[in-house]
Amino acid sequence: MDCIFCKMVEGEIPTNVVYENDKVFAFRDINPQAPQHILVIPRNHIPTLNDISDSDADVLAEIPLAIKAIAKEQGFDEAGFRVVANCNADGGQTVFHVHFHLLAGRSLSWPPG
Ligand code: 5GP
Ligand code: ZN
Repeated sequence: MDCIFCKMVEGEIPTNVVYENDKVFAFRDINPQAPQHILVIPRNHIPTLNDISDSDADVLAEIPLAIKAIAKEQGFDEAGFRVVANCNADGGQTVFHVHFHLLAGRSLSWPPG
């Protein structure tokens, strides 16, 4: 399978890993949109949020727990942060392995563009 995020999980390409456990993997975005821009992903390949199923419930439940741990570890839990998941064309998804953008380190505007 030609998925860049799977290759990162497998350690096939150099990755700035921030956090990992048996289900979740997190690394710094190559094109950061905030001082802290971390991508949090399930280790298993799921193309989009349209493709999740009951069998993914366990790993997806771990994502907010991973985000909480990362925010505390990186020291931006109290200041705050944003979590974004883009799906398909209108959402602006460009990498088709489900991922959650964790953005922090500056005041973020709302609504998004
Ligand atoms: P999307 O647009 O699908 O929501 O987000 C994909 C994200 O993956 C983008 O923010 C992009 O900068 C990031 N990205 C794409 N290729 C790579 C890569 O090779 N390494 C890293 N660390 N991030 C990547
Ligand atoms: Zn993948």
